[in-house]
Amino acid sequence: MTTSTHTFACPECRRSFEVDDAMREALLEVGCVVCGAPVVDADLTAPTVE
Ligand SMILES: [Zn+2]
Repeated sequence: MTTSTHTFACPECRRSFEVDDAMREALLEVGCVVCGAPVVDADLTAPTVE
């Protein structure tokens, strides 16, 4: 089982942090954990591989 990590960047409070798949689902469902703003898929990006 692979755990994909995404970076969430909130357009409202401008916080950004890494989330796993479960956290990503939670964000899309309940919104930003910091400010409560609605989260759309576009706010979640897969990290670039360095
Ligand atoms: Zn926020």
